[in-house]
Amino acid sequence: MKPVYSGKVREIYDVSDSHLVIVTTDRISAFDRILPVTIKDKGIVLNSLSNFWFAKTRHIVPNHIVEERNENMPPYFRTACFKDRTVMVEKLDMLPFEFVIRGYLFGSMWEAYRNGADFCGVRLPAGCKLAQKLAKPVLTPALKKDVGHDEYVSMKEVEAGLGEGTAEQIEEYCFRLYEMCSEYAFSKGLIIADAKFEFGRNKQGELVLADEIFTPDASRYWDADSYEAGVLPDSFDKQFLRNWLLNNKVNGEFQFDKVPANVLIRTGKLYHECFNRLVRRL
Ligand code: ATP
Ligand code: MG
Repeated sequence: MKPVYSGKVREIYDVSDSHLVIVTTDRISAFDRILPVTIKDKGIVLNSLSNFWFAKTRHIVPNHIVEERNENMPPYFRTACFKDRTVMVEKLDMLPFEFVIRGYLFGSMWEAYRNGADFCGVRLPAGCKLAQKLAKPVLTPALKKDVGHDEYVSMKEVEAGLGEGTAEQIEEYCFRLYEMCSEYAFSKGLIIADAKFEFGRNKQGELVLADEIFTPDASRYWDADSYEAGVLPDSFDKQFLRNWLLNNKVNGEFQFDKVPANVLIRTGKLYHECFNRLVRRL
């Protein structure tokens, strides 16, 4: 069977009128490039973590998961290479926006702030530091683009595109998801600095939470113990790998095929550590 879509990390298969199968591989990307190496079991960690959070938040928002057990997948997927990294989901009509909820000032929002610009219609007071906790979380939507980078927009633009009722419903879902899950993560020694959500509509027209949630690819996880505003946080994702790439450019070019084994091993360990803290030892 051939995937209908290959993302940088996941493969999407169209298995019926109403279902897709999503397989999370061990591939890793950085700076929009897929590396020529894989990280052992990274896909299993990401898929398991996403499933953990989907199950935990089902009472807040309906989600797209239909089946996660290998023995109940369509026959093609019932083999060891798909086990624990494959889900069957409800096929949705995806919304053209994605939603990042931010509890801390970092990434694109920090870049905008440093340049004195508003971000998605949000203006912050003067004197904020890198990685500072925001007085309250903010929702920063982006319009998905087929080519190039997604475009940040304000909630006003989302309202104009989707209607006020839908925008309000999404806002409520995102805030409740972030509030509950960041509190849980904090009790396990992790800060969820931000989280990206995607929604779609099912055949009945209901809003459903889709894609992956609260994985280190869709969220920023920081170590709560060593966290300090103004200091680059210790993060449980590919920041370590990104730093190596940034520090080892040759003639201004990233050396994607030269990443040393120890950097890959450490990156893999960080993904595992995140899962271990939140769920259990794998
Ligand atoms: P990246 O690797 O940077 O994330 P990508 O977003 O192109 O790249 P994936 O995230 O692997 O790659 O692709 C998953 C695609 O499937 C996304 O376009 C997402 O919106 C879509 N998707 C996720 N869940 C569903 C669903 N239940 N129904 C329909 N489409 C979905
Ligand atoms: Mg994606």
